[in-house]
Amino acid sequence: MKLTFLGTGAADWQDKKAKESGELRRFSSALIDDVLLIDPGPHVFDALEAFGIDVKKIRYIISTHDHSDHFCIDTVKRLESAGAVLYHFSEGDSKKIGNYTVNAYGGNHATCAKTVHFMIADGPDTLFYALDGAWLCYEEYMAIKEFRPDLAVLDATIGDVDGDYRIFEHNNLNMVIEMKKSLDPYIKKFCISHMSKNLHGDHTELVKKMRKHDIIAAYDGLTLRF
Ligand SMILES: [Zn+2]
Ligand SMILES: [Zn+2]
Repeated sequence: MKLTFLGTGAADWQDKKAKESGELRRFSSALIDDVLLIDPGPHVFDALEAFGIDVKKIRYIISTHDHSDHFCIDTVKRLESAGAVLYHFSEGDSKKIGNYTVNAYGGNHATCAKTVHFMIADGPDTLFYALDGAWLCYEEYMAIKEFRPDLAVLDATIGDVDGDYRIFEHNNLNMVIEMKKSLDPYIKKFCISHMSKNLHGDHTELVKKMRKHDIIAAYDGLTLRF
């Protein structure tokens, strides 16, 4: 499986001209094998152009939640007119989409629209995608133990900040580090995304800090193969 991060920022990143260095980030979105798009946000086309990805390859769209940094109806329409199909998911759904089996779990995130996290398997490889969301829910933990994902993408919106009220819907870095300690036996690789512009410093510092814990800090354009 190949995962390309089209955007790795939280909703406070407004600048579409993100650089691959990670110093600037687009809104959160990721693409599997160039065909399955997670979150059709408003910056998707800018990212596809920047990373030289052909929009016509995208066949399937799935969406974690309706927040405007993740879901843009104009993006959906443009992708549909290029041949993609949007699949709707609620908590507990399991669907076969092309070569992928996609299971959805309720995410611990703002409830204005229900958030789902995805376990996506293509046979040999499995991805757990948990944006946006704070502490994982018990059902997710049980699913992780069952599926043993090769890669988990976790929310790290709040950076290295203590005492922020948003911990009830997003993680800070200590929360990610703490969860990794418990999940290590079941997940091969850990990665963080959805970094806030205002709550994070420099990407290089983030990479250095997370490397100590064997956690990858995503940046726009990063491709992971597993
Ligand atoms: Zn978000
Ligand atoms: Zn959100």
